[in-house]
Amino acid sequence: MTQQPQVTNLINGQKMRNGQTSMDIISPIDGSVISNLPMSNSSDLDAAVAAAKKAFPLWSGMTLKERVQIFFKYRQLLEENIEELTEIVHLENGKTRGEARAEVLKSMELCEFAVSMPQIVTNEIQEVSKGVECRIERKPLGVVACITPFNFPNMVPHWTVPNALVLGNTVVLKPSEMVPLSAVRMGDLLKEAGLPDGVFNIVNGGKEVVEAICDHPEIKATSFVGSTKVAKIVYKRASGNLQRCVALGGAKNHLLVLPDANPDMTANNVVASMAGCAGQRCMAASVMVGVDKVQHIIDKMIAEAKQIVLGQDLGPVISQAAKDRIENYITEAETQGAKILVDGRGATVPGHENGFYVGPTIIDFVKPDMAVAKEEIFGPVISIIRAGDLDEAIQIENGSNYGNAAAVFTESGSLAKKVMEGASAGMIGVNIGVPVPREPFSFGGWNESKFGVGDITGKSSIEFWTQNKKTTTKWNPEDKRDWMS
Ligand code: NAD
Repeated sequence: MTQQPQVTNLINGQKMRNGQTSMDIISPIDGSVISNLPMSNSSDLDAAVAAAKKAFPLWSGMTLKERVQIFFKYRQLLEENIEELTEIVHLENGKTRGEARAEVLKSMELCEFAVSMPQIVTNEIQEVSKGVECRIERKPLGVVACITPFNFPNMVPHWTVPNALVLGNTVVLKPSEMVPLSAVRMGDLLKEAGLPDGVFNIVNGGKEVVEAICDHPEIKATSFVGSTKVAKIVYKRASGNLQRCVALGGAKNHLLVLPDANPDMTANNVVASMAGCAGQRCMAASVMVGVDKVQHIIDKMIAEAKQIVLGQDLGPVISQAAKDRIENYITEAETQGAKILVDGRGATVPGHENGFYVGPTIIDFVKPDMAVAKEEIFGPVISIIRAGDLDEAIQIENGSNYGNAAAVFTESGSLAKKVMEGASAGMIGVNIGVPVPREPFSFGGWNESKFGVGDITGKSSIEFWTQNKKTTTKWNPEDKRDWMS
């Protein structure tokens, strides 16, 4: 794969690599080393936080309307550079160019929400007694941090960074060490858009930087997106250190398929949901609960899955370790008596034999207590559990520790409503396999898919990235007292 420039940290507007150790960045497409990144330590974080703290008075002192002007320009730069940004996501994450492009388009939509803040954050004022006014204003928190995962190198940083910045905070971003290249370009383009130095900083690395973020006394809030295991660690550690924290975790999304569902549309949606982005989406279908007689839909799913061309329609998973983990799950299910209808193990792509490919996989007759039914696999694999009726199907969905998304496929409004009400998940789809809310609707799951109050995007994020200042004024000295004084 094409060699990429060495990754640098961004501190106070300067790209730098001090004496940190480094790690190779491997393209999952063919296993080749495409760059390397600094594995920073707590002193690198200290420098970034100091820069962000220094930049805060100037940035927070600008009006909201002034700050959004930079993001109008930045959104334009995303559009102008979409081909290059798409290629970077494709190279570092492995997803197809079409999927990578969709990610950048979503980042643009997230910026559109951020620039709409002056229309939404209008503050409140009321004359509460004659000559006495109360006002509520939203104020930024100060220096905040965003920690992101590997599966959406461009989009997930845009879930948090534009809103946090537009609302007046200064930011330190810690991207996934597996896909840091998109974040470097984000820093370049924000600078080109006119963002002052120090307002946005990037510290690359892994666990050590994350722990230093959670412990840092100058960081007021931390957002985290990643696995549930790490989300729990970050949520406990950051909030234990009195930071505000929202931590999004992993998922195990259930699609409930009813016999009256439109067969073509359902089969197409289920397969696209489980195989899109190689199944490495926190919104991917992982379990299909087939209610009663759905064999005709499963037959169509098999046909759909077999049409997928590996390396063209379906990219690799992120690493050799991920490929091994996913294949082990399939083998374990087979050993326990499940039936492999479409088998993606041992797949290779000619010319990219060292890439980390797993073909689409459909496993039938899975039991709710098998690992493939309970644990996050994060690959292009769907487990089918058979249920006698809708109540049993909802019970199976409710049994999951996770709760990111759930969907139902049916032509019946009343049965759909039952799932909308009964599913234990934050994002529900009706005849839609990846029910991601579009802006301005907010994104966030339930149960072990999210820790903390509120969602991570949309209006919910305004609450997270700001604090209210309540001011009471009185300018009528002839009236000596108000009713409280
Ligand atoms: P991950 O939890 O391994 O890593 C996420 C971040 O945490 C990275 O920046 C990483 O450097 C850091 N990290 C890793 N191990 C750590 C540790 N022990 N201590 C401190 N920090 C650590 O997640 P990932 O593999 O990069 O991403 C995939 C996961 O993210 C999946 O579970 C997926 O479901 C989840 N995800 C969830 C959402 C959501 O909205 N709920 C969105 C995207 C991804």
